[in-house]
Amino acid sequence: MIEIQKTTESKIDKTNFDNLAFGQVFSDHMMECDYKDGSWQKPIIRPYGPLSLEPSARVFHYGQAVFEGMKAYKDKDDRIWLFRPEQNFERINKSSARMAIPEFPKEYFFEALEELLKLDKDWIKKGFGNSLYLRPFVIATESGVSASAAKEYKFMIICSPAQAYYSGEVRVKFSEKYSRAADGGVGFAKAAGNYGAQFYPTNLAKEEGFQQIIWTDANSHEYLEEAGTMNIFFRIGNKLVTAPTNDRILDGVTRKSVLKLAEENNIEVEVRRVSVQEIVEAARKGELKEMFGSGTATVINPIAGFGYKEQKFELPNMDDSYASFFKDTLMKIQYNETEDLYNWTYEVK
Ligand SMILES: *Cc1c(COP(=O)(O)O)cnc(C)c1O
Repeated sequence: MIEIQKTTESKIDKTNFDNLAFGQVFSDHMMECDYKDGSWQKPIIRPYGPLSLEPSARVFHYGQAVFEGMKAYKDKDDRIWLFRPEQNFERINKSSARMAIPEFPKEYFFEALEELLKLDKDWIKKGFGNSLYLRPFVIATESGVSASAAKEYKFMIICSPAQAYYSGEVRVKFSEKYSRAADGGVGFAKAAGNYGAQFYPTNLAKEEGFQQIIWTDANSHEYLEEAGTMNIFFRIGNKLVTAPTNDRILDGVTRKSVLKLAEENNIEVEVRRVSVQEIVEAARKGELKEMFGSGTATVINPIAGFGYKEQKFELPNMDDSYASFFKDTLMKIQYNETEDLYNWTYEVK
């Protein structure tokens, strides 16, 4: 059903797979599907390349744009796997609905992913940590700067080869002033503007020597919510604590997978509001053993320390960290190196 225009000049031989900066290089093909006259048209796969849009296209003015992040993995036998892709499909439509963007048909999404991955399968390198990062996104393309929902959109999927990378130690700052999301807002959606709005406060935190911000609730700044692109977990003693998802917090696929693995491995979990005060006190008493983020890009990202107001705290180095247990367990499932007990993997064949 999908029209395919193959590239005549693959870039793969010119790509250095041993030195990839995240999200800089893109594979040979991309998927494009237009919405007009009230329906999604036929998807097309064509060589990756620039778009031509009117300067008045609404996405440039009112930010009607949503995206997803997922990965394709290759196992030792060259089989290609996705991890819980139906979750990403459902979530992009949830994000779209909130941004008044029409929902994308499920058959198009999966057919496009499969065709694209089959065409660009050589861009997925084997080996733990290597993957092809997939970026589905939707933008409002209708021209004209009147401030209302567009009637024309473009759904695309682009693919970027990714390597396991060590980004250095991550220290985070608990936000006291700026907010990422508010009640009734769009925090739960992967809406483009959520990310653009974080760059300025994050730059300020970087000047103070932190790499990321942990956002707190917009009303009181007393409760910890999540990081810019990761959900956040705390280990207090041997208990794992994380905030519940709501309309301010993104419902991460990695987060829900960690919660399931914790439950199955008899790790005590509390999903509840986590106050800044509680974490500061736990850190002072030496009860805060770990903090880590969860998200598709890094799977699990351990956090070495945090800052709140003028105070800075360092976390201990744990031999048997929950972070490495979850990372290892999840990656083994993603790379088809262990039994998939929960039906999370999806083979592209
Ligand atoms: C994408 C994202 C996450 C992580 O979601 P995953 O599905 O685990 O990749 C967490 N928080 C925010 C704000 C995000 O954008």
